[in-house]
Amino acid sequence: MSSKKILIVGAGLSGVVIGHKLALQGHKIDIIDSRDHLAGNCYSARDEQSGVMVHTYGPHIFHTDNEAVWEFVNQFTVMMPYVNRVKATVNGQVFSLPINLHTINQFFNKTCSPDEARALIAEKGDSSITDPQTFEQQALRFVGKELYEAFFKGYTLKQWGMSPADLPASILKRLPIRFNYDDNYFNHKFQGMPRDGYTIMVEKMADHENIRLRLNTRYEAADRLRYDHVFYSGSLDGFYGYRFGRLGYRTLDFDKFSYQGDYQGCAVMNYCEQQVPYTRITEHKYFSPWEKHEGSVCYKEYSRACEAGDIPYYPIRQVGEMALLEQYLRLAEGEKGITFVGRLGTYRYLDMDVTIAEAMSAAERYLASLRDGQMAAMPVFTVNVR
Ligand code: UDP
Repeated sequence: MSSKKILIVGAGLSGVVIGHKLALQGHKIDIIDSRDHLAGNCYSARDEQSGVMVHTYGPHIFHTDNEAVWEFVNQFTVMMPYVNRVKATVNGQVFSLPINLHTINQFFNKTCSPDEARALIAEKGDSSITDPQTFEQQALRFVGKELYEAFFKGYTLKQWGMSPADLPASILKRLPIRFNYDDNYFNHKFQGMPRDGYTIMVEKMADHENIRLRLNTRYEAADRLRYDHVFYSGSLDGFYGYRFGRLGYRTLDFDKFSYQGDYQGCAVMNYCEQQVPYTRITEHKYFSPWEKHEGSVCYKEYSRACEAGDIPYYPIRQVGEMALLEQYLRLAEGEKGITFVGRLGTYRYLDMDVTIAEAMSAAERYLASLRDGQMAAMPVFTVNVR
């Protein structure tokens, strides 16, 4: 198989994982990124004053059930033990999330056993809702009005800028409800934090003689002509110059502040009430519990509609956006020699492990297409994006 010239747009997890896989097979890879650093939104850097490792674009916690992905990342870093335990401030009290037996007992001022709590929540849930479609219906059905209003209603309004009655049930399905005292935010088999931060982990993935990384470099349509194939992890609507309009995203603003000592005593404190303008405060030294720092760096996190020039974070994927997405997908499906990947390229909310798994399979499918001599059949998307 002859060596191919590949352009990868975006030096985030998608782009760098694909670059790494293809470089190992002898292909020549150029990775470009318009930012002045690699690692995309999982970029982390030490705060100069305190030495705390800061998740510059907000908290990123690595968790997965995918053993291949876990082994893959462990080649580039030491994954330190980390368990995400989220707290929530509501009505002048601090609770444990996701909703678990401690939360239920504290909230209802009871001492329920698991079975008693199950019965209590079943009684609180609205069983007349048989097929919940919206976030609100899902919450009312499975946790009932009181817990929904305390923990989900206000937070979700702030996070998504719209009523939970207009959001899909799938968003809430990300969160478990537990009838024991397990307060681990995630259910996955593997969870951890890269010992020296995400940036170094991604730098190591990109460190190969066949990979050339160019930062502060924008993609130009003419670039395509000079390569055998392009993997594009920028935004799909951006690729087409936003010609049908912009796909909706939420962006985040971080109000960064330093504190001498210990500000809140945990990594993530959610503020679920609507009248508190931010959604959560993160105290970054708690993302590296094996380190000791006197000083502290915190982010107050605010969510709002993403406009031109803002960093897109969460794809909204409401009905209106899906119609717009369809127009872009039709254009993309007419392309050859390009694969759209990642959160922005496929307009889906992706956790880091899923991003890596999809990037690995995009690279593998490209390599398979070369072996089979089926370049033309190379899919524009390697996953279902609808
Ligand atoms: N959510 C909420 N209250 C909370 C935490 C989460 O209402 O205290 C809702 C909110 O709508 C959020 C969704 O549950 O978007 C999924 O939560 P997750 O923690 O997975 O959000 P992410 O990590 O994606 O920001």
